[in-house]
Amino acid sequence: MRRPIIAGNWKMYKTINEAVAFVEAIKEDVKNTEVEVVVCCPYTCLAEVKKAATATNIKVAAQNMHWEDAGAFTGEISADFLKEIGVDYVVIGHSERRQYFGETDETVNKKVLKALEKGIKPILCVGETLEEREQGTTFDIVKAQVLKALEGVSNAAMADIVIAYEPVWAIGTGKTASAQDANEVIAYIRETVREKYDDIISEALRIQYGGSVKSSNATEIMQEDDIDGALVGGASLDAASFLEIVNF
Ligand code: PGA
Repeated sequence: MRRPIIAGNWKMYKTINEAVAFVEAIKEDVKNTEVEVVVCCPYTCLAEVKKAATATNIKVAAQNMHWEDAGAFTGEISADFLKEIGVDYVVIGHSERRQYFGETDETVNKKVLKALEKGIKPILCVGETLEEREQGTTFDIVKAQVLKALEGVSNAAMADIVIAYEPVWAIGTGKTASAQDANEVIAYIRETVREKYDDIISEALRIQYGGSVKSSNATEIMQEDDIDGALVGGASLDAASFLEIVNF
């Protein structure tokens, strides 16, 4: 049985005070849930949120990191910086980073490998654009993204990976993939992992859906066999709305 994982991706929202207040607001309510709860914070909030989340059922994720250990990379954040804070997860290859900040499958792969090396669990994001979906290339695109991102990832390290399938056209648009369509692509990702690794690894791998998840569609999405969680953007900003999704 895979443990569900629901992560709120706050993107470029929330000051430190707002982020800590959010954790304070939900920590009692998520104490006994079966779901693994994660908040993906802006860098500036990470240290305080990690403190606020100590001894709770809330894990903390960064939204990005650099793949080098250190160097002349102005404005970048290394895995060691995140590790020092005690960050549990790091989102890698979010479509907004691919779209606006030049992330490629190659840089995503380097970041995945570095995060694993440093003991931070990657939430690896993949997903097709609207154009790719309309051209009927969704499965090919997603498979290529997954295989490139996992290049060099050992069997043992796969236990630390979460994949988020996020169709680009569904992010922040209010358009959700139907639960069945999302499940079909996610099952295909699992199959891709099975071919590269084995049955045990693919069956244990947790794969989230992301793209306009909200309290009104979370139940339907979470009921699908291959969907093990959600990466939630807009609807994760409000504590009550996020809690409704966690309690799907
Ligand atoms: P959304 O964002 O829920 O606002 O569509 C999802 C994401 O970007 O991870």
